[in-house]
Amino acid sequence: VVALLATGCGRGGTAEPAASDGAQEPGGSGQIVGVAMPTQQSERWIADGDNVRSQLEALGYSVDLQYANDDIPTQVSQIENMISSGAEALIIASIDGTTLTDVLAQAGDAGIPVIAYDRLINGSPNVDYYTTFDNFQVGVQQATSLLTGMGVVDENGERTDEAGPLNVELFAGSPDDNNATFFWDGAMSVLEPLIEEGVLEVPSGQTEFEQAAILRWLPETAQERMENILTVIGDTELDGVLSPYDGLSIGIISALTSGGYSTDALPVITGQDAEVGSVQSIIAGEQYSTIFKDTRLLAEQAVAMVDSILNGEEPEVNDTETYDNGDHIVPSYLLESTIVTVDNYEEVLIDSEYYEESDLS
Ligand code: BGC
Repeated sequence: VVALLATGCGRGGTAEPAASDGAQEPGGSGQIVGVAMPTQQSERWIADGDNVRSQLEALGYSVDLQYANDDIPTQVSQIENMISSGAEALIIASIDGTTLTDVLAQAGDAGIPVIAYDRLINGSPNVDYYTTFDNFQVGVQQATSLLTGMGVVDENGERTDEAGPLNVELFAGSPDDNNATFFWDGAMSVLEPLIEEGVLEVPSGQTEFEQAAILRWLPETAQERMENILTVIGDTELDGVLSPYDGLSIGIISALTSGGYSTDALPVITGQDAEVGSVQSIIAGEQYSTIFKDTRLLAEQAVAMVDSILNGEEPEVNDTETYDNGDHIVPSYLLESTIVTVDNYEEVLIDSEYYEESDLS
């Protein structure tokens, strides 16, 4: 499945070589760009790596792409190796956004520009640019789809007369990933007023980020937390589960089905990344929604940033306020994400050639 997906996403992501008509020189003439990705355990990062690599290569760069198996020391040493073997720019999707300060100081000393990819790198002065999706908005979309799925709002985002109380449980991402709090804050900006109003109830009482967070985004940890919650809440039936990532949703669904829910009567469960297994689950009527973030476009932004910097130009940004990494506000380019349900997956994922229909069957 992973190999299939990687090909699927690479397909649409290949940039046209700039020099195809001979009029323009390719941006890089073999200059090395180091690309550090967190893990191959999740399909999205495989797609990200493939898309960044193919688009850089199309512009004439050499690419040193490394995955760190979600292990922080591995990522640090991979980046050190990139620096010592002559990388002229770095694109980094960090595992823990706070652990790269020393290695990035080496990059800074060597004059190597650093692009934070998808996840902000915190605490370091040596982060030049950031490209990501509008992460707060991703959280808003997750919560909105949870409400739509439970019938609290209609398809136009308007409140219905559903007064609840509906039972929901809340999950958050990895506390060392800067995005996780953005997703959570976005989601809670929508859900909190409804909890206060009594339309939503959280039977476990666990409504704090720290209680809901799942370190390293591990599906098995989410499964375990869901199992514990089911034990605590006994017979109380759940109407919805806010999940910030498809991998967690898979763990949550496993816990629910082993806890007695049948697959055709699951609560409304959200997600993120439109990973193949979860889109299949949406088609099968198990998971309700996911958030599609087109990794081809994210790769395109990161590659454009590198190419501009290495050609002495200013990269394009569209946000200079939001992403303070504790040292400075990192100039950012934010992309938009899309809610996907069974009603629009064909239009969003297949018509855009992100997947082929056969990938999802
Ligand atoms: C990414 C999400 C992803 C999560 C787990 C986050 O930083 O923005 O797209 O679901 O990490 O990999």
